[in-house]
Amino acid sequence: MILMDLHTHTIASGHGYSTLKENIEMAQERGLKVLGLSEHAPGMPGGPNIMFFWNYKCIPRRYGDLRLMCGVEANICDLEGGLDVDDFTLSRMDYVIASMHTPCLKSGSAAENTRAAIGAMNNSYVTILGHPDDSRFPLDYDLLVREAVKAKVVLEVNNSSLHPLAARQGARENIILMLQKCKEYGGPIILGSDAHTCYAIGDFTEAEEVLVELNFPRELIVNESLENLSLIENKNNVLK
Ligand SMILES: [Zn+2]
Ligand SMILES: [Zn+2]
Repeated sequence: MILMDLHTHTIASGHGYSTLKENIEMAQERGLKVLGLSEHAPGMPGGPNIMFFWNYKCIPRRYGDLRLMCGVEANICDLEGGLDVDDFTLSRMDYVIASMHTPCLKSGSAAENTRAAIGAMNNSYVTILGHPDDSRFPLDYDLLVREAVKAKVVLEVNNSSLHPLAARQGARENIILMLQKCKEYGGPIILGSDAHTCYAIGDFTEAEEVLVELNFPRELIVNESLENLSLIENKNNVLK
């Protein structure tokens, strides 16, 4: 059973359409136990400024039996895997996703993009690699999954990437390649809705179809157990 959705956005991200309250209410309605707020980082056009992230201390983390985690979807902004969020800020997040986005990174070859992803995964604050499924940023999945396992980073299966109108191209084929390697190397994955409206919170319909098709082992799906939060969470965050 899916207990958490750690990839969601609100209006604060600049191109999201729901408020935090709307997202929280939908998460409760859909029976989630953990909702993760992962707003876009300052490098994304229209994204929040850095003060937004420093002020997370004012957001309550508990709503009945729903826990809220406040994090960031940092942009990988160079081919070494550098992020657009400094360590001071990252250390104050409940968790950190790192992702490649076209406005923030110019794609290199598959070898170069994979090096960038590995660089980001080796940042000690990064625990999730967001949507590594975009043919505009080709990746070497064999190497990526081996390095993710080594770096203890969880690879995301992004439900929004699988929508027919998704900007990310070839996602289904790429996700299948990635999942086959995760199965082979025992690499954990996390389902993320990447919701930009409350209606998408906790909706993993397309991702689940692919998992069922591949007979993917449920024990490698981080969302299935709250104990797996230890893989994701920044336990040293002083600001929660
Ligand atoms: Zn977005
Ligand atoms: Zn993203």
